[in-house]
Amino acid sequence: MNQRIYDTQTQALGDFAPLVPGEVSLYVCGPTVQSAPHAGHLRSALVYDQFRSWFEATGLRVTLVRNVTDIDDKTLAGATPDEPWWALAYRVEREFNAAYSALGIRPPTYEPRATGSIPEMQELISLLIERGHAYAAVDESGDVWFDTGSWPSYGELTHQRPEDMAEGEAPSRGKRSAADFALWKGQKPGEPDSAAWSSPWGSGRPGWHIECSAMSTKYLGPTFDIHGGGRDLRFPHHENELAQSRAAGLEFARTWVHNGLVSVAGQKMSKSIGNTVSAVDLLTAARPIVVRYFLGSAHYRSTIEIGENSLDEAAASFSRIEAFLERAERAGLLASVVEEAPPSLANLPEAFIAAMNDDFAVPQAIAALHEAITAGNQAFDTGASDAAARAAREVTAMLDILGINPRAEQWSGGADATGETALAALVDALLTERTQARGAKDFARADQIRDTLAAAGVQIEDSPNGSFWTLEKA
Ligand SMILES: [Zn+2]
Repeated sequence: MNQRIYDTQTQALGDFAPLVPGEVSLYVCGPTVQSAPHAGHLRSALVYDQFRSWFEATGLRVTLVRNVTDIDDKTLAGATPDEPWWALAYRVEREFNAAYSALGIRPPTYEPRATGSIPEMQELISLLIERGHAYAAVDESGDVWFDTGSWPSYGELTHQRPEDMAEGEAPSRGKRSAADFALWKGQKPGEPDSAAWSSPWGSGRPGWHIECSAMSTKYLGPTFDIHGGGRDLRFPHHENELAQSRAAGLEFARTWVHNGLVSVAGQKMSKSIGNTVSAVDLLTAARPIVVRYFLGSAHYRSTIEIGENSLDEAAASFSRIEAFLERAERAGLLASVVEEAPPSLANLPEAFIAAMNDDFAVPQAIAALHEAITAGNQAFDTGASDAAARAAREVTAMLDILGINPRAEQWSGGADATGETALAALVDALLTERTQARGAKDFARADQIRDTLAAAGVQIEDSPNGSFWTLEKA
């Protein structure tokens, strides 16, 4: 059976055939590294980690590129006298990596930072100007804009009409139409020289959208298989990426996928509402493997709702899996299970394979996992040793694909040592930020960090020798 994937652009399920037989190229928009990772970031990275595992299990070689947006209005806005934008971006990038590794999310094949591809972005902008799809502002701003009016297909990704998309800022700084978007931003007074690169249009920095067009084609080529990202990136980010790439003559992504977001008590997570669930919140509320099971059990296109009991329910469901594995281990069945790297389709039930082939239908795949556990438990109860052994092999194979086999290397090492190391890195990073906020007399931010940590069960003690933290015992 063929792999089927839902394409955002065609709004339909289609058979997936890689451009190069046997290989998959996948570009995913990574975070703007401005503040600590939250549940939505982890969910997005986890979705593409699952895609990658499944592709590998089916025998494909995967190249996964996920960028880091390190230069942006937001990283500049977050800088303080004690911490320049580049130090902030790097600190937050490390927090993201700690959180990813806590959840067993493998690093991508490559993780380019935007600041590492400025020449490629400038080449793309020059090409767009040459082809009549971009213009340098006639004023002194040094800005360069994409001319949406010159590209009749603008709106083809999200099926919007031009008038729906004119939600950008009103024309200013040499911009001709509200729908036009910045490719290059001239250096503004007060912006540090470290955030400005010389260019044919004066010193400045790239706009956000051009980064991803330049980095995806730099590492994956002018045409690649899949472009992924969170649903909130469809417009304007991905619409603009598509327009500028096609206008530059690139075929660009052949399939667009978008993962659902995470909501809390029915509301989209947002800093302004203050309902953000951070990586620290999740990792203090449950074991990392349970957090991965919880965030990785939904269909990638649906919204995950975090309710008060979500993690407890996930922990209860996961303990059923662990109980079965312990039973299998006592019966000496796990020793005979050969771990394969990467996992293959051998030992997987048909229902699991069919579910994953059908647009990565993880809920159905998890149902197949629990069915195998039920069958295995019945086999143990009735002494059917062959059936019990088969169930143990199947369950192990499915857990390996989903990245939640407690006996796999990433989770072994005692009582979740990986999770504890990651948690320590994340909390230490927040304490650094709090110390800096206090140094800059931003006491509101410092208190906010203390409250966030307290709500996650992390107690801070300030002493003349610095701040220390302990986990509140439940
Ligand atoms: Zn992007």
